[in-house]
Amino acid sequence: MKFRCKYCGREFTSETALKRHTKDIHKSRHYAPRIVLTLAVALLLVAAGAFLLTRQGLGAPISGVECQSGEQVAYHVHTLLEIYMRGEKIKIPANIGIIPRHCMYWLHTHDETGLIHVEAPRQMRLTLGQFFDIWGQRLSSHSVLGIDLASSNLEMRIYVNGERYSGDPREIELMDNSSIVLDIGPPFAK
Ligand SMILES: [Zn+2]
Ligand SMILES: [Zn+2]
Repeated sequence: MKFRCKYCGREFTSETALKRHTKDIHKSRHYAPRIVLTLAVALLLVAAGAFLLTRQGLGAPISGVECQSGEQVAYHVHTLLEIYMRGEKIKIPANIGIIPRHCMYWLHTHDETGLIHVEAPRQMRLTLGQFFDIWGQRLSSHSVLGIDLASSNLEMRIYVNGERYSGDPREIELMDNSSIVLDIGPPFAK
């Protein structure tokens, strides 16, 4: 029985001799296809992962606010948001707008203090409505956090820097060192 090298056609009397020949003479050719295949599979997995992330909408812009990798520090301001429901302070979750190991929205929280971080690549007008959209919570003059105010006999009093605000809560601009209070009652906190 003859063992024929598939690369150069040389014949060998034993399989061991052919293997040695292949390894010595055609080593790069012997391994190249495997390396190419491994790389192709790795690339495919990365592409599939990115595709799935996009398909799930993870990191897709929300209400014009983009999610970017790395913190955007060109425009960096903070607004404190406090929400009171029937006199009790509601905890605003940490890491709103942060997708671990993926990206960070221009509006996000790092802790549960209610401090909204505005971190964008340039100065721009960003609003409380956009923050609620990223949070995944409804906000309007009539409803907040999934509660329809009128049908629950509730009223929302809004304060911006301590002053009563009667406009659309979604339009409140997130300004540096400003404070926004949503006081939903009765009873009211303030
Ligand atoms: Zn910050
Ligand atoms: Zn940040």
